[in-house]
Amino acid sequence: MPAKYIFVTGGVVSSLGKGLAAASMGCLLESRGLRVNLQKFDPYLNVDPGTMSPFQHGEVFVTDDGAETDLDLGHYERFTHAKLTRDNNWTTGRIYEQIIAKERRGDYLGKTVQVIPHVTNEIKAAMKKVSQDVDVCIVEIGGTVGDIESLPFIEAIRQMRQDLGRENTLFVHVTLVPFIGVAGELKTKPTQHSVKELLSVGIQPDILLCRTDRFLSKEIKGKIALFCNVEEEAVITAIDVGSIYEVPLTFAHEGVDKLVLRYLHIDAGVRDISRWEELVSRVNNPKDEVSIGLVGKYVEYEDSYKSLKEALVHGALSQNLKLNVSWIEAEGLETKGREYESQLEGYDGILVPGGFGKRGIAGMLNGIRFARERKVPYFGICLGMQTACIEFARDVVGLETANSSEFDPATPHRIIYKLRELRGVEELGGTMRLGAWQCKLEPGSLAAKAYRTNEISERHRHRYEFNREYEQPLTAAGLRISGATPDGTYVEIIELPESEHPYFLGCQFHPEFKSKPLEPHPLFVSFIKAAYENRQRRVAEKSAAEVEMFLRPEKVGRP
Ligand code: GLN
Repeated sequence: MPAKYIFVTGGVVSSLGKGLAAASMGCLLESRGLRVNLQKFDPYLNVDPGTMSPFQHGEVFVTDDGAETDLDLGHYERFTHAKLTRDNNWTTGRIYEQIIAKERRGDYLGKTVQVIPHVTNEIKAAMKKVSQDVDVCIVEIGGTVGDIESLPFIEAIRQMRQDLGRENTLFVHVTLVPFIGVAGELKTKPTQHSVKELLSVGIQPDILLCRTDRFLSKEIKGKIALFCNVEEEAVITAIDVGSIYEVPLTFAHEGVDKLVLRYLHIDAGVRDISRWEELVSRVNNPKDEVSIGLVGKYVEYEDSYKSLKEALVHGALSQNLKLNVSWIEAEGLETKGREYESQLEGYDGILVPGGFGKRGIAGMLNGIRFARERKVPYFGICLGMQTACIEFARDVVGLETANSSEFDPATPHRIIYKLRELRGVEELGGTMRLGAWQCKLEPGSLAAKAYRTNEISERHRHRYEFNREYEQPLTAAGLRISGATPDGTYVEIIELPESEHPYFLGCQFHPEFKSKPLEPHPLFVSFIKAAYENRQRRVAEKSAAEVEMFLRPEKVGRP
């Protein structure tokens, strides 16, 4: 049977969580035995988000096939088993890029190329590309209804209903029902206006997911249903929740999946979300907590490390722990002496995430030195591996000018240098080492123990690499290279031996992209485990010191 489509649009304001709503519907449909795929259309003109600043766009999520995509694809992968590729994320820029290439080739045979039908046909063709071997495709349209730039996508989904019929297409609109404090009331007018806007472009929504901070009464639901021309049952309270992993449960409670099946005439199995229920009960009943200090430069904008933060949560949940993440501005650690150390005390583990450019590097190096010397578990990802190598080369090997040619092109000791295959490539879009690469692990290493295998595949996004000319002096001083590509070209993982440090590991890839709440990534599990052991050690030392103070105050210097 051909796939059926659910189209998700958003109204009133941005950031209502359309991506999470789409992912959660996918999760519920999978829990009934259906096969789903998810796709996102972004109405901006960049070909992909790869060249956009993290402040503008948030994290760039990388797929196995090396596409640089919107962060909502991360939610899709974390909530479902859909296998995402570059076909799962399209921007206006990429649609136009295709059309212009066709026009230049002469494919349009002299016709005038127009938004309707040429742009809309290209959008519909992209939608059909991801419908093979699945029962339901969930297609999210980025932006807010009423934006000029999203019009061609809205028109394309209107046509999809014309083409495929009512039983094969469903329109889900995510909207806002705000509580106005001074009036003491929930207000339905923004939703009414937003639906009116959709109607003006030919779309009558079937289901309204109403974002709100409190439950919608029967009366409010009835009012929205009446004004927006939907069934009362199809007005859903999409209430704010403490953890994003609760969203599928709240949707299940509101009967979203039942409605979808009824509207799309799908006969599916009984819903089984027991694993998600169990997960949420762990979220709500942690046995203890763990604190991780994240030293980076895009800290003030949380979306820039979305997958990373989730992967840390997964690692903590795997051990029944509540995660406290503190974002530490790297530049704030650039003190003359060791004053920066006071900012780092109190964390159970320290992590330096991926990043680009020179700003904040000196602070990251200080953070890493602190973790190495004080034996605080350290996890370096991509840039965090590169900076760990530089710190080691400078402070342990004594190569004071060790650097990456990214930060100092003239440095005599290029521990990290431009990827050999990228020399001479100046264009920025899509030119990094991207996507999944195989990696061989050293048997017996920290990495191999964490993964419980010696062969892995992980996703990359970088332009610089470890310079193997420095392998000898660094390994002679105690650094261990525990992961490399099978042909030995690229160093992928470095670590310190467990005899030297409880947990010190850096990887050139981004493990956070493959971590899921129900399948936490082995490196995040092992890092959090080490951080928690460090916490327990510190607690034990603190109480031993207190006992000592009580028993022998003269010895410990109490007056
Ligand atoms: N800037 C570094 C590089 O391009 C690290 C990239 C990253 O952390 N994703 O290699």
